[in-house]
Amino acid sequence: MVDKKRILVTGGAGFLGSFLCGRLLGEGHHVLCLDNLYTGSIDNVRGFLDNPRFQLMQADVAEPVSASVDQIYNLACAASPVHYQSDPIATMRTNVLGALNLLDLAVKCNARILQASTSEVYGDPLVHPQREDYRGNVSITGIRACYDEGKRAAETLFYDYNRMYGTQVRIARIFNTYGPGMRADDGRVVSNFVVQALRGEDLTVYGDGLQTRSFCYRDDLVRGLMALMNCEEANALPVNLGNPGEFTMLELASLVLDMTGSTSGLCFQPLPQDDPVQRRPDIGRATSLLGWRPEIGLRDGLSPTIRYFTEKLGRLAVAA
Ligand code: NAD
Ligand code: UDP
Repeated sequence: MVDKKRILVTGGAGFLGSFLCGRLLGEGHHVLCLDNLYTGSIDNVRGFLDNPRFQLMQADVAEPVSASVDQIYNLACAASPVHYQSDPIATMRTNVLGALNLLDLAVKCNARILQASTSEVYGDPLVHPQREDYRGNVSITGIRACYDEGKRAAETLFYDYNRMYGTQVRIARIFNTYGPGMRADDGRVVSNFVVQALRGEDLTVYGDGLQTRSFCYRDDLVRGLMALMNCEEANALPVNLGNPGEFTMLELASLVLDMTGSTSGLCFQPLPQDDPVQRRPDIGRATSLLGWRPEIGLRDGLSPTIRYFTEKLGRLAVAA
């Protein structure tokens, strides 16, 4: 039987955080969800509000956090470039001050803490696929730096708290993850393409569309986060979590058009500054340490995602 814990999930009203809260409640844990609702929404956790083991705290991780918990998952930070770039200074504050505040809380409670880090710590990678020992190729000056450097600084704090205070830390380097629960205006490529296809609008392909990403389905990713948190051998080791299947944006667009039956065309737009050319995780460490590997391929993950957005857009149209 699973030992019942008190677990803090920051960013718990977001896309991945709300799904994680549901999974933790399903295992019988007490869940404290902390979120400032910047990109998250109460709607994402509405189904948990009547559960006596669930508590929602509207707060900012850049401010000191007070709670008594056994584990902390730090997912607080807008993940979509559109949203994290709209207030880059707030993004840096969230990443760095948030990490400091939550690590202090972990020391106080003797709690184990997991950081939702990112493949963006590798920047525009010169090594392919990316392994955890690759140090990355990140711009300090560009528009993605608030996120990339913020997440890198956060990781550094995690390793230093581990060395100085013996804090049990877990670092998940998450690669592009999609699925039901995303906002229609999230701005990331999978939600953009599916929403545009369903609305009969042209799909906005940035650049020539030949850049690649590896897309992981939400359920696989959250299973990986929970396995990493509870793995005794993973202390202070960064672990890539993602699906190694690699696709160009043109391949993704064509799959979405095929699966939605949409007659939309493509609309080519300028490539944003510092947009990584290629990205694919080497998941050897996750497989050997956690026995984890993704089970849901892109086509199988897009089906429920398209169903979710079909229903969501229907509701939005009725409400308008
Ligand atoms: P999301 O934007 O849906 O969720 C982020 C949540 O954090 C939102 O609920 C938002 O309101 C909250 N938040 C933002 N700033 C905050 C602050 N200062 N204080 C409290 N709450 C705050 O994004 P997501 O896709 O669910 O990503 C969750 C985490 O995983 C993020 O940390 C992100 O960097 C990381 N990640 C996600 C992906 C991905 O592809 N989904 C990839 C790499 C890393
Ligand atoms: N992209 C695109 N059209 C969109 C949104 C994104 O072509 O409407 C591209 C973007 O330039 C990038 C890739 O899709 O090359 C993934 O972008 P996303 O914002 O999802 O995540 P990133 O990996 O860049 O953080």
